Amino acid sequence: MSKQRAFSGVQPSGNPHLGNYIGAIRNWVEGQDQYENYFCVVDLHAITLPQDPATLASNTYTLAALYLAAGLDLNHSTIFIQSHVSAHSELTWLLNCITPVNWLEDMIQYKEKAVRQGENVNTGLLDYPVLMASDILLYQADKVPVGEDQKQHIELTRDIAARFNHYYGNGETILKQPEAIIRKEGARVMSLTDGTKKMSKSDPSDLSRINVLDPPEVIQNKIKRCKTDPIRGLEFDNPERPECNNLLTLYLLMSGKTKAEIAAECQDMGWGQFKPLLAEALVEGLGPIQQKYQEIMDDRAYLESVLREGRMKAEAIANQTLTQVKTALGYSLPL
Ligand code: ATP
Ligand code: MG
Repeated sequence: MSKQRAFSGVQPSGNPHLGNYIGAIRNWVEGQDQYENYFCVVDLHAITLPQDPATLASNTYTLAALYLAAGLDLNHSTIFIQSHVSAHSELTWLLNCITPVNWLEDMIQYKEKAVRQGENVNTGLLDYPVLMASDILLYQADKVPVGEDQKQHIELTRDIAARFNHYYGNGETILKQPEAIIRKEGARVMSLTDGTKKMSKSDPSDLSRINVLDPPEVIQNKIKRCKTDPIRGLEFDNPERPECNNLLTLYLLMSGKTKAEIAAECQDMGWGQFKPLLAEALVEGLGPIQQKYQEIMDDRAYLESVLREGRMKAEAIANQTLTQVKTALGYSLPL
């Protein structure tokens, strides 16, 4: 029996951080031998907020190198850049024409990011979930491993697929409805400066996040300065103490210890004692990835060859789905 397919991506919209690593990339690596995987650097998504072109270009390669450095194995996973496969843009247009605007206006991420963008909200920000649906549906993905914030977009993807099949499938399933895979722990890593807000690349303050590529002294400084509370004794799952729960969860996810072990270890601790332990777990956990990343970045020809091969494999599947969609819509194939 052939393996199920998984698809996911991260935007090269800034510095990849612990939330991206723990909520997404690390889970891709852990599950990769169970699936036939497609992992994409979603650079078309990135321009839904303003990007400097030179920075976008370098962030794109950084992220692809990080996918490899985190442990993606080319025997199981295809790595490519979204804008290299034009079917993503083309399917987006076709699906735009069956997606009601009010479905998009209901999206939480749109509402949150639109507030930050002010009066001049671009159409791309509203349309972002249709591009994401196209990314996933092109590969007929069964599973989409993501952080918790993307749950609503996967549900929308399912709705778009169902609507397309209903109107144009003639009783057949042309687009497969995918399922999200969201882990329990680490699905929503919170900001270091506000435990009620998700850690994000697009947060203007670098102190709000630990970047995967932060050097040890930067990590130590950010942990030293991160928001805590005045209560002695640290505990999980107290809704009155969001920072405490977040920092203990990060310790849990990066130290390899169990939740019970950490709860016992930290129950009588003050922040002054806990913070150096957390900083050390982060430095140790990220160190090997940073070293591997540097090796990959030093061999640009290798990275380019991975992305070239990835594009070819991705394109073959994406174009097949695109042709099925266009045929169902009544388009004739080019003569
Ligand atoms: P941006 O602020 O530009 O939207 P982002 O930090 O939200 O960036 P994305 O590229 O949008 O990152 O998301 C990539 C993946 O990382 C998605 O699967 C998303 O669910 C996951 N992710 C993002 N932030 C977090 C977080 N704080 N905790 C857990 N997972 C996260
Ligand atoms: Mg995001």
